[in-house]
Amino acid sequence: MRVLVVEDDRKLAAQLASALSAAGFAVDVEHDGREAAYAGSVEPYDAAVLDLGLPGQDGVSVLREWREAGGHWPVLVLTARNRWSDKLASFDAGADDYLTKPFMMEEVVLRLRAMLRRAAGSGAGELRAGELVYEVGAGRFLWQGKVLQLTAQEHKILAYLMHHSGQLVTRADISEHVYARDLDPDSNTVDVLIGRIRRKLGAPQLIRTERGQGFRLVPPESDTQ
Ligand code: CA
Repeated sequence: MRVLVVEDDRKLAAQLASALSAAGFAVDVEHDGREAAYAGSVEPYDAAVLDLGLPGQDGVSVLREWREAGGHWPVLVLTARNRWSDKLASFDAGADDYLTKPFMMEEVVLRLRAMLRRAAGSGAGELRAGELVYEVGAGRFLWQGKVLQLTAQEHKILAYLMHHSGQLVTRADISEHVYARDLDPDSNTVDVLIGRIRRKLGAPQLIRTERGQGFRLVPPESDTQ
């Protein structure tokens, strides 16, 4: 999942980026409100962590611009002051949750996962495709009841496919959502990673290759839950 972190305190921004990367997210960072407003209007993010007090443009109006541009992904607002007016303004602009500084990095990760779980419309916090289960809150995959050992990149790709189960996912979709934008893997890298995931699952038919288009995670017919 690809997350945009907007925070003008560079030290805090770096801490957030490192904590979220370690938790398996692909992270982009912006320090300026105007640049953040632009990035969130043109790039396909899955979630954002947004500071309210920013140079260039304040966080509330950044959020409003994202929403007006059609971005519905969950946004966690960071506020330095425990002020109701800030919270109300950010919820009014479309925030999903907020955290008051200072906070623990673990809490940011937990809140983000909870927001993504709600956004996925999965109350139980699980996505399921046959014998493959993604425990969104715990951030892990179970295959036939056992924890699946995946690298960070494999994890991100499989999570993206699970969130788009049954849909065609192009190589470009995967590159855009799985990698931070400063990395630009050639499409072959995606194929190699998909190949590794298939081998780990031992069920190659679960992720179908759509020739010349991309991939589709196809849950078994019997699994209608
Ligand atoms: Ca700030």
